[in-house]
Amino acid sequence: ADPESAPYLVGLNDEQRAAVLTTEGPVLMLAGAGTGKTRALTTRLAHLLNMQLAAPYQILAVTFTNKAAREMKERIAALVGDNVEGMKWLGTFHSIGAQILRRHAELVGLKSNFTILDADDQVRLAKQVIEAANIDEKRWTGRGLAAVIDGWKNRGLVPEKVPADEAYHFADGRGIALYKAYQSRLTTLNAADFGDLLIHNLTIFQNNPDILGEYQRRFRYMLVDEYQDTNVAQYLWLRLLAQKHKNICCVGDDDQSIYGWRGAEVENILRFEKDFPGAAVIRLERNYRSTPAILGAASGLIASNKERLGKTLWTSSDDGEKVRVRGVWDGEEEARLIGDDIESEQAKGRSLSDMAVLVRASFQMRAFEERFNTLGLAYRVVGGPRFYEREESRDALSYLRLIRSSDDDLAFDRIVNKPKRGLGDKALQVLHKVARANEVPLMVASRIALESGELTAAARRSLLNFVDSIDRWSRDAKDMVPADLAELVLEESGYIEMWKNSKSPQAPGKLDNLKELIQAVSEFDTLEGYLDHVALVSELNENTGDGQIWLMTLHAAKGLEFPVVFLPGWEEEIFPSKRSLDENGNAALEEERRLAYVGVTRAEESCRISFAANRQIYGRWQSALPSRFIDELPEEHVEVFSEQGLYGNTATAYASQSSFDNIGVKEDAYYENPGWKRARNASSRSSFKPKTIEGRGKTIGVGASGKSKFKVGNRVFHQKFGYGKISSVEGQKLTVNFEHSGIKKVIDTFVEAA
Ligand code: ATP
Ligand code: MG
Repeated sequence: ADPESAPYLVGLNDEQRAAVLTTEGPVLMLAGAGTGKTRALTTRLAHLLNMQLAAPYQILAVTFTNKAAREMKERIAALVGDNVEGMKWLGTFHSIGAQILRRHAELVGLKSNFTILDADDQVRLAKQVIEAANIDEKRWTGRGLAAVIDGWKNRGLVPEKVPADEAYHFADGRGIALYKAYQSRLTTLNAADFGDLLIHNLTIFQNNPDILGEYQRRFRYMLVDEYQDTNVAQYLWLRLLAQKHKNICCVGDDDQSIYGWRGAEVENILRFEKDFPGAAVIRLERNYRSTPAILGAASGLIASNKERLGKTLWTSSDDGEKVRVRGVWDGEEEARLIGDDIESEQAKGRSLSDMAVLVRASFQMRAFEERFNTLGLAYRVVGGPRFYEREESRDALSYLRLIRSSDDDLAFDRIVNKPKRGLGDKALQVLHKVARANEVPLMVASRIALESGELTAAARRSLLNFVDSIDRWSRDAKDMVPADLAELVLEESGYIEMWKNSKSPQAPGKLDNLKELIQAVSEFDTLEGYLDHVALVSELNENTGDGQIWLMTLHAAKGLEFPVVFLPGWEEEIFPSKRSLDENGNAALEEERRLAYVGVTRAEESCRISFAANRQIYGRWQSALPSRFIDELPEEHVEVFSEQGLYGNTATAYASQSSFDNIGVKEDAYYENPGWKRARNASSRSSFKPKTIEGRGKTIGVGASGKSKFKVGNRVFHQKFGYGKISSVEGQKLTVNFEHSGIKKVIDTFVEAA
């Protein structure tokens, strides 16, 4: 058949076709958001299968999230049907790395049933290593060590390869020794952390040319999406595997590189052309996703970045609405107004799943969750500290992990006395001591301790019972379906009973979650498969999002698109984040700006940005300034709103004047600062920076969400508004009827009793 007339090519533009049809040799597709990179990549995969250029198991395809992998699989299935079933090597770097590692685990001292540690376990383990080395834990934390080790792993460095002077990155020169100790603990536990999944692959490949050769021959074609976010270890891994056939196609957008903080290196894009000489470089310039206003706003914003390759984007879609920017009083109001917007879109016939709220940090989600619950709007949280990070999930998983691998000491520690079995700290100390002395896992140490006289009679009885139970469940695991096993274990262990008896207000919710967990297990044929899945998923909900609003972080939204996108919290110190502003140089700020670009470019028809004048963070009220990114949006693509109505491009502040009046604090900053009342285009942010910086993020109320000392009816005095009487009290927010200034909302720390 003529490859060029294949039905799946219809509708692709010339450049996309080239990306699909240039099957041989290295290809780099470099293009802006929404230009159809992922679509071209997916079609390329379908084409390879359809032309039988390779069998499904000879293609390696890397996506950034498990969700993206699933979607790619679905799309390919739609194009070529069942052939997709054999695609064993389609997944994230982590999932593919884990698959390879399971096959050769013994070459790096692990067993094939090794446990994959999540971030939380990793920190606990790092903490134990620091403790064992007698290092001051207050100064050198487990979290810190885990971060340093991650950094090295991201760069592909095993302890032996870390440059000696970098030992000083942690604990006065002991960094490398601790890294070694950490690795040897992992081996004892028969466990790997996320970084190891690739590092161990690299070690295996480097030490065993025959194995490397086998994979190099196997992977006739390699495809990589979101290439701009690969780190060095991932790059080395790709480069090694591609050496034989060199049919590697990477697609990316330097403007969407948002994982620098996790070791991603945009330089990998530049390196590609050097390492794969003669690579075909394909650029796509037509955006198929967004309206001109959205695209124009995003392009204008990203133009403020200095470090970029630069590119042109155009779209032929209809004009559509401008990007909306709205100033509100506080976070609660923001959630309320967004909830209202969603309801009114719904009333116009739009499905909830066509709308997404994208936040900078996950703490921002709660306000929306509450609001959606109040309104009875179905929503789903993607990729947060969510289901599997909850206490009860982690406990239940620890039982299952210990049953799968009796070497898993972290799991043992977590549940040996949960529910309480009379195995307190004393007994555990004995077990840890025995484990260290004999260099054995805690399960083995328990058996030894049962024979010795070091435990009290009561502790021995409990421990014996516990060990017997784990043994019994491990035998059960061989011929029970995993969901039944999970249920049995949670019942027999007394874990479910523990929450049934608990008086905690959270207990009912936890019991529901445990039910949900068993439900999740039931979707797997093997315990192994389930546990791997849990360790690897960054998204929880497996079903499609029909009829639910999407709620997620900007990072999780990469590669996705929605007709309506809400971008709340565009305030200095939230977005850009405080951390990025504190950092020297512009790198962190530019990464924040790329994140903003990712956010805006997720929108197809409507993009709605908002910021609040007041923000409660960890219980403290802070005043906030609109994000500099708002300034950077080109005026012609933006429409400014306020609570009171449309303000348009007037030379006033972004939010309604009254909303700022209400803040009451920093009046000087607000009223005397020319920047605040600036014309949008008259003064650049930098010209008024020195003044507003004082106000930026300043705490204007202390003590929290707490209660106000004032009551309805109290007479108060406010510096600007004068005397008035309180008509309502809501936490620290007062509504005051001022004698001369009318009704205002103020925070109680700005008034005094009169
Ligand atoms: P991102 O950088 O955000 O990952 P992308 O470049 O991967 O974006 P896609 O997600 O592949 O872009 O495509 C964006 C949208 O444009 C999708 O809805 C896709 O179906 C559509 N699209 C892509 N190519 C074409 C085309 N040739 N004709 C019509 N629509 C297209
Ligand atoms: Mg994409």
